[in-house]
Amino acid sequence: MDYRKMWGELGMDVETHDNLCAALPPAFTEIYLSQKNRPEGMGFWDMVVADIHGIRPAELIEERKKGRKVFGTFCLYVPDEIIIALNGIVTGLCGGSEFWVPDGEKHLPKGMCPLVKASLGAYYGRTCPFFRVTDLFVGETTCDGKKKAYEIMSQDAPVYVIDMPQMKRDEDVVKLAREYRKFASKCEIVTGNSLTIDKLNEAIRITNNKRKAMQRVYNARKNADNIPISGKDALLMTQIAFFDDPVRCAQMCDKLADELEERNRRGVSVFDKGTKRIMVTGTPLAIPNWKLHHIIETSGGAVVCEEMCTGVRYIENLVDEDGGSLDDVILNLARRYMKNNCSCFTPNPGRIEDIIRLAEEYHVDGVIDVNLKFCTTFDTEGILVEKALKEAGIKVLGIETDYNDGDSEQLKTRIQAFFEML
Ligand code: SF4
Ligand code: SF4
Repeated sequence: MDYRKMWGELGMDVETHDNLCAALPPAFTEIYLSQKNRPEGMGFWDMVVADIHGIRPAELIEERKKGRKVFGTFCLYVPDEIIIALNGIVTGLCGGSEFWVPDGEKHLPKGMCPLVKASLGAYYGRTCPFFRVTDLFVGETTCDGKKKAYEIMSQDAPVYVIDMPQMKRDEDVVKLAREYRKFASKCEIVTGNSLTIDKLNEAIRITNNKRKAMQRVYNARKNADNIPISGKDALLMTQIAFFDDPVRCAQMCDKLADELEERNRRGVSVFDKGTKRIMVTGTPLAIPNWKLHHIIETSGGAVVCEEMCTGVRYIENLVDEDGGSLDDVILNLARRYMKNNCSCFTPNPGRIEDIIRLAEEYHVDGVIDVNLKFCTTFDTEGILVEKALKEAGIKVLGIETDYNDGDSEQLKTRIQAFFEML
């Protein structure tokens, strides 16, 4: 289907955007469609990617015509439940392509992480429809790069910033609950709806169901004797979950999980026996950043787990459904979100505990700790992560990269050498 008219009406730079549309299908064919023996259930995500800037934005436009509002988010600490309870729609906005970086560098210093630059580049370059249909951009005070980027963006767009605690003491959970209450008030103004306990409980059930369905897919990857899905495919499912309708996402993930569980029963694997089981940890891999997974899975390894925001961190920990008052339920939300172990917190021992626990649960042979260039918090925390893994007897390789393909061959050589050592 031709969406150029829709993109034009959204005020996009359609000609520049055509370059992105031309580059994506060959890359997707090479990286994804060339894989052998993929689960049939991945057909849904292939279809979504084939029209990634068409199908879902068109749905969002239709929903906005009915009066619903779209909230664009950049971080796992934004409570989707509050937005959904107010009949709003959540869409992830993190940019994962080098395509958007130059436009980002017109507004931000070059020495910032590519994720921030690409996200702002997609906005200022008018080359992403999701930014064009967003009614409120929701930021948060996590890393310094994002904090300052929201400040710049707020000069031109409606931005609301959630003030995150920096530590994880009991009083910080209470502080976050207060911030979520304020955020709910803002969402009430934007949507024109009022938050009620029933609507919030229903939104919690919807979001928990999505997490449960995704957990089933991840659990199928824990099988020590079989790898029923590639890391690339699991990553794609996770990346798209940030954009999709949560109910449909749960249905599709449940369907995929049924197939993967059956594959595990029958011993149907995507990889040959002896393929190294790898966990990746570190900075998020926003769509369409498939670079590292592709290198690993064409070098004798299989990614069986991602300890990152585009991975386990997004789906673990459900919100308590036995609420109480509205304030109690919002406190429960804060409790759940504070279990996310992002490197922006200090200290952050929970992340190291997670990595060591997940290495065992997913039966990994080795861990690759990946850092996006100029991400200071994950880079610094990498020193502690790698020390703890070595002490635990788990082999680890630390790498730093960005969205550019220039270092792919060099990374491949290092990763292959790492696999030989395992
Ligand atoms: S890495 Fe931290 S700041 Fe980035 S999306 Fe995840 S939780 Fe948010
Ligand atoms: S990768 Fe690091 S620097 Fe970049 S947005 Fe995430 S936390 Fe911030």
